[in-house]
Parts: sequence; structure tokens; C-alpha cells
Amino acid sequence: MVFRPELSWEFLPAEEIEAKTMRAMRNHVRHIKDDSPYYQDALKDIHPDDITDRSALERLPFTDKNTLSTQTERFIGVTQQKLVETVVTSGSTGKPITYCLTASDLDRLAYNEALCFYSAGVTEKDRAQIFVSLDRLFIAGIAYYRGLTTLGANTSRIGVLPLEMQKHYLQLLQPTVIVGVPSFLKKLAIELNKCGFDTRNSTITRLFCIGESIRDEKMELNATGRILEEMYRAQVFSTYGATELAVAYCECTAQCGGHAHPELIYTEVVDEAGKPVPDGTPGELVATPLGVEGMPLLRYKTGDITFKISDQCACGRNAARIGPILARKSQMIKIRGTTIYPLTITNILDEFDEINDYLVEIESQAPTSDNVTVHAAVSPDVVTAITQKLHAGTRVHIPVLVSNETTVQSLRGAGRKKLRVLDRRAGTAANPTGPSTTQV
Ligand SMILES: [Zn+2]
Repeated sequence: MVFRPELSWEFLPAEEIEAKTMRAMRNHVRHIKDDSPYYQDALKDIHPDDITDRSALERLPFTDKNTLSTQTERFIGVTQQKLVETVVTSGSTGKPITYCLTASDLDRLAYNEALCFYSAGVTEKDRAQIFVSLDRLFIAGIAYYRGLTTLGANTSRIGVLPLEMQKHYLQLLQPTVIVGVPSFLKKLAIELNKCGFDTRNSTITRLFCIGESIRDEKMELNATGRILEEMYRAQVFSTYGATELAVAYCECTAQCGGHAHPELIYTEVVDEAGKPVPDGTPGELVATPLGVEGMPLLRYKTGDITFKISDQCACGRNAARIGPILARKSQMIKIRGTTIYPLTITNILDEFDEINDYLVEIESQAPTSDNVTVHAAVSPDVVTAITQKLHAGTRVHIPVLVSNETTVQSLRGAGRKKLRVLDRRAGTAANPTGPSTTQV
């Protein structure tokens, strides 16, 4: 596949992107109405040619995760023979979804990731190492691999290896770009420095962070992001993707929001009633992947809370961007009328080096109010400072209980080392039957 970034619409004037988007959405609706049994029914009263502006788009039906997971086969838009790859979502917020791609969908994935790395300054001169799994039914690893190789970067599929081997391959292959999960990259840097590999003076210039947030709601680096930047003396880039969207949003060199590539995805952010919210206002990310053959979707409700930015980026691109993922929709916390995002709490807790481990526990207190408790493995003399900072950041009182690492781990449950938020509320959309253990 030849990578031609000049084909992307993102540098076009906003009005031109808008016109192309309307045309693409009409074609998309026509295609899914013809080819996907689910949409043949769901769109029987919709005429694609009527989609001439945003208000017409906003009348199209949403697709939710539950419908996709229970009627998966009905979404497939091609014959079985055309499907070449199957992945399965982790199911961290509900039933796992089996997602199938055609050869063209894999190329589309590669093009999107190549655009992401390209906009963050990666070139064919770079040497990249991927520190995430390329197997186990994940889409992310293969997407990064295809994207980097399409761009022409010399790419090594490292995966997750014992420390000595990680160190060996870093020394042997001298990568300039690394892709990984922030908490893993942080732990890796600490261990590498202990065994004589100086991460501050290595060849690494860019870290691409997946799966966990490295920015706060003001889009500034959070504690983890700052530590990574300092420990690797490298630029850190945030990227967000969902299997069902078959694209990722990634920061460019200006680092002020994750770029959508408009020829590949139409992005909306909506309120509880499904109405678009103004730029900068948090709401649910709703996305329509364009150009997908295998399992095309329309106005897919991701369940992730973020905000949209429509003005021109400092890099010159005019397509929409999104802010950091503030929470899963099911994890939004309501305390006496105030909405709080778990990310706000975990970002504040991460600021305290004195906290060795913690768990944020959310319970239902009343139908309209939740109860939040922080269990922190910390010395009692730091508790007042933590409580004050939590109050300043959330405008509500959140009790901090002094605990120890063993107790925090037992509260978290076996095998869930990275879990920082334990949501015990029942009956949420993503958690219809019991406690959720979604990672933030
Ligand atoms: Zn930009």
C-alpha cells in the first residue's frame, strides 16, 4: 500500500471538509442500507439523498454497543468470503464484541495509523518499537504495525518481554519511536535505569501512549505524562482508539487534541438526550467510521466522555479534534448535583509521590447520588493535603482512608493489578448486573 498523506482532507478549508463529509455520509448510508441487514431495517425510512446538512445527519439513528454485541452478524456488510481478520474487544464495559475486517479495512486501518504517526512527525527515517501485544485478538498492535510500516518506519514487534530482553533490543536496535501503555513505559524506565540503561540519554525521541490518559481536562500533561517526558527526555503523544471505530485519534506535533481524519471518520459529541454539545463541553463521543466494508456502523455511541474542538489546529489542519477521554459514560459520578469524572480524581492522586498505591471506590448512595471513597496506601500525615487538593479539584468532599498496599490490592481483587477505579454501582448501561471493574 502506497502512503499518500496529501490525499487526506484535513488541510482543506473547513467548508470543503464539510461538503465532502456530507457526500461521504450520503454514500455511507446508501452502502449500509444496501449491504447490512441491520441497517436495512433501521434505515428503512431514511433516504440518503435527504442528508444535505448537519441537522439531517442528527436525525439519523444511533447505534449502541449492546445492539452491536447482541446482533453482530446482522451488521456484516459483505459475504463471509471477503472477511480476512477477526478481532474481539476486551469486553471491559460489557459483552465482548467480535469485529471482522476485510483486506480493504486492514489497508484503511494502516492508512489511518500512518496519518497519525505522520502528523506527529514520524518519518521513514525512524526506527520504531511496538511494546504492545500483536496477537491475542487485539486490533491495536496490528494497527500500529501496519501504520508504521506503511509510513516506511523500520518497525520491530517487541511486544512485552522480560526486562533483560527489552534492554537488549533497545541497545541493539536503537529505536527513535516507542508505542506502549503509559504505566508500563513508566515502570520500564524505572527498571531500565536501575540496570544501567540511561533512558534520559537514549535514541528515543517520541513515545506514543495508548490505553491510558496522559493529559488532564485542560489538555496539559498529567503526572504520568510529565514523568514519561522527563524520564525518556522525549515527546509524549496521546492516542485514543476503539476497535469498532477501526481508527485512532492521535495528537499531532502541536499536541492540542487528537485529530480525526475526516475521510475516515465523522465525529460528534452529544449530551444525554443525543443532542450535539458546544465545543469544549464534555459529552459522549459518537463516531461514524467511513469507508468500512466488513462491519460498517452509523453514529456509534462509544460510551466514552470527551469534548470536541472544531477550530483550526496550530498545525494547520482543519478537521475536528477531540480532547482526552475524561471517563466512560457509565463511570460518571454524581454527588449532590455535581458531576465528577474519575479521571479528575486519579489525576490528582497521581500528583502525590507519597501515595504508594490507591483505589477509588464508587458506590450508589441514592438513586441520584453516588458515594466515593479513596483507599490510599499512604502515611497519615499526607491525608489532609490530599483531601484539600481533591476538594479544590472536584468541589466536593471525598474521604481518603489510610490503607496499605496489601489491603488496596485485596480490595481490587486478584489479577487486577492496574485497576484504579472500582465501580460498585449496579444497573449502569455498561454494567447492568453488577460491579464494574473498568480501568480508567
Ligand atoms: Zn494539529
